[in-house]
Amino acid sequence: MKIKKPFPTALATIDDFRKSKYFRSASDIASFRCKGKECGCGGNLRIYKTVLDFLDESRENAGIPYVTLSGCRCSKHNNNISKVVNSDHVSNKTGLVCCGVDIRARNDRERFLIVSASLKVGFDRIGINYEQNFIHLGLSYRNEPAVIWRY
Ligand SMILES: [Zn+2]
Repeated sequence: MKIKKPFPTALATIDDFRKSKYFRSASDIASFRCKGKECGCGGNLRIYKTVLDFLDESRENAGIPYVTLSGCRCSKHNNNISKVVNSDHVSNKTGLVCCGVDIRARNDRERFLIVSASLKVGFDRIGINYEQNFIHLGLSYRNEPAVIWRY
């Protein structure tokens, strides 16, 4: 499905989630919403459809369950838990749309499967967190492309 930049700007609808192969259950969809309790955003969910499509394809290639540990974050919640102002996660009612999510990766094998599958489909921002056992998969809608970082 490799899409070249500029990436499409359509937002994923609930229907798009329901039509996806791997992220269609109510709990899957909920895992993409802002998880802040203090922010009062009511579970903001604004994410590019391309991210969802790439995730579905990456999950297919990797062949292991993808658990979304962090998806969209409203600006308030992101400011509370992260120092990254323009984080890929930020989504709000007026402007920013989530362009990256954190997928659970508990060991060396899972990290390899997720990273290799995700590079193949076109994710171009990858962050590996060894302490908290997740991999950030992002698209360079607003942040630097072609990077892999560690936390
Ligand atoms: Zn929020």
